Amino acid sequence: MTDYYKSLGLDKSASETEIKKAYRKLAQKYHPDKNPGDKEAETKFKEIQAAYEVLSDKRKRQQYDQFGSVGAGFSGGRGDFDPSAFNGFADIFESFFGGGGGFGGRSAKKPGPMRGGDIEAEIEIKFEEAVFGTIKHLEITKPDNCESCKGSGVEPGHEIIRCVDCNGSGQIRSTRQTILGNISSLHTCRKCNGRGEIPEKICKTCKGRMRTNQRKEISVKIPAGIESGARIRMREKGSAGLFGGPYGDLYLYVRVADHPKFTRENSNIYSNENIHLLQGVLGATVMVDTIYGKESLKIPSGTQNGTVFTLKGKGSITLNSDKKGDHLVTILLDVPKKLSRKEKSLYKQLADISGIDVNEKGGFF
Ligand SMILES: [Zn+2]
Ligand SMILES: [Zn+2]
Repeated sequence: MTDYYKSLGLDKSASETEIKKAYRKLAQKYHPDKNPGDKEAETKFKEIQAAYEVLSDKRKRQQYDQFGSVGAGFSGGRGDFDPSAFNGFADIFESFFGGGGGFGGRSAKKPGPMRGGDIEAEIEIKFEEAVFGTIKHLEITKPDNCESCKGSGVEPGHEIIRCVDCNGSGQIRSTRQTILGNISSLHTCRKCNGRGEIPEKICKTCKGRMRTNQRKEISVKIPAGIESGARIRMREKGSAGLFGGPYGDLYLYVRVADHPKFTRENSNIYSNENIHLLQGVLGATVMVDTIYGKESLKIPSGTQNGTVFTLKGKGSITLNSDKKGDHLVTILLDVPKKLSRKEKSLYKQLADISGIDVNEKGGFF
């Protein structure tokens, strides 16, 4: 740990004026403007700044004098009980990074990399796309690494520096005098949010949030046989992580659009097909629509209205397999609405032969 007094070339008894004087002198000497490209001078300059920020502040100096390097084995009074160690991490994050955190870990430990949040989105696909699978492209808006600072939160040209409030430990220890003696407590440094380091200068673009909302195009493979309501998990396509943490996931909810003719249940497809009454009576081979195109279907004579025929293997692909379901077609018999004079007379003859009582006054025909 750096000795702040040594950094300024002083000893512990230095007066406020002496501290100020020493800082001015050294800051001038090591200022980056006077030492362009000199890394050593830059480091020294930061060290001086860090030392001055602590030693020029009465309260901080007192704390520093009392505990030396923060966290260096100090044990206060009788207890080391720390009720404030679990102080709101999230609201500290708010104060420093300006919000947009979306995480709520509470810990006195130095926070490590944080995984980005999961995102949910909906995608509508066509009936056929659900049956055969497809690749869809969609645009989503999500928090992603700020393009100017690459997700560091630091204004380009500046660096991450050690937090002077906590001397890089991320925690601040303070003591209270109680009737039980001195109680030492450790709490998360508010300035650096417990990280021990802060941007030298906060990125202007993201205001230190490290991420900005960005529109991204995403390609997603829709597997054949997917059903409405299914959820596709796309790993690491969610929000960007923080402090080097991984991306969250993207959950895509699939909605399959209705088809004008077909419905589907699991891998079976259903449709209705209208045929002429006489085709049902006499039998016929008709063409019916399936998802694969027209298929011929043999209608036996005497087929009743509402009879269901199965076209084997003409249904949807089953999700995660090569198997196909069936197409089930319900036959609806169309009764002719208009008859020519000749048709009418033939139907009447047929009724006579069959002994069917047709009430002409009732006017069916
Ligand atoms: Zn930024
Ligand atoms: Zn700090």
